Amino acid sequence: MNNQYMRKDGRAYNSLRNMKMEVGVLNNADGSAYIECGHNKILVGVYGPRELHSKKHSKPDGAVLRCKYNMAPFSVKERKRPGPDRRSTEISKLISEAITPSIFLEKYPRASIDISIEVLEAEGGTRCLSIVGASLALADAEIPMKDMISACAVGKVDDHIVLDLSEEEDQTGQADMPVAIMPRTGEITFLQMDGHLSDVEFEKALQLAYDGCYFINKLQQQTLLTKYGGDTRGKYNL
Ligand code: ADP
Repeated sequence: MNNQYMRKDGRAYNSLRNMKMEVGVLNNADGSAYIECGHNKILVGVYGPRELHSKKHSKPDGAVLRCKYNMAPFSVKERKRPGPDRRSTEISKLISEAITPSIFLEKYPRASIDISIEVLEAEGGTRCLSIVGASLALADAEIPMKDMISACAVGKVDDHIVLDLSEEEDQTGQADMPVAIMPRTGEITFLQMDGHLSDVEFEKALQLAYDGCYFINKLQQQTLLTKYGGDTRGKYNL
């Protein structure tokens, strides 16, 4: 039975790893976020909207969203060669595509919004966590958005549908399906599938991904509230 299945790291099928989120962690970026999940550690900085002087790259009807995902050489067990590779180019593109539907880019013609994502430590699930962190950093930069995008991976391990795959589960499991949604509308802004799921398994996995994303969205909202919400101490000193 799925409900009793105990994963190698002791989690239930529907448990996320421990998560920690923070915004406003960098002084020199317009917006920033730091996110931990299990042993993943990811830092995101946002610059913009800034005027894009290059006519070739700018768009008259809205801002250009540019996203760079980078893994530090020390982020994985065997030193990673510094610099971009095919994987980081693909992930940068998909993060940008997952986030684009949430931003009112049309408000900033001929401008650019740049998102830099630095993976300091990786343990499976970095593309989803980067989307979560990038949305937080954009909100921290006060860029108008319809909603913060939330993301998590679901998959199949030992014939069980599970939430938030670890690196080991990602590598030894039967399927891995990272998903991003816009919680307010339920719109799926990104979905990939590696491996095989039956129709029934796919429906079950997608529902679990929605549950995970809604939970993560609440954490994102709390993280912003912790920095910006409610507490007016020291702000209105007479
Ligand atoms: P994601 O991080 O989104 O799950 P992948 O499925 O490509 O992306 O990678 C799964 C995990 O494998 C990563 O989170 C990381 O822990 C590890 N990994 C990825 N690339 C490398 C690499 N070049 N060297 C060692 N480990 C890697």
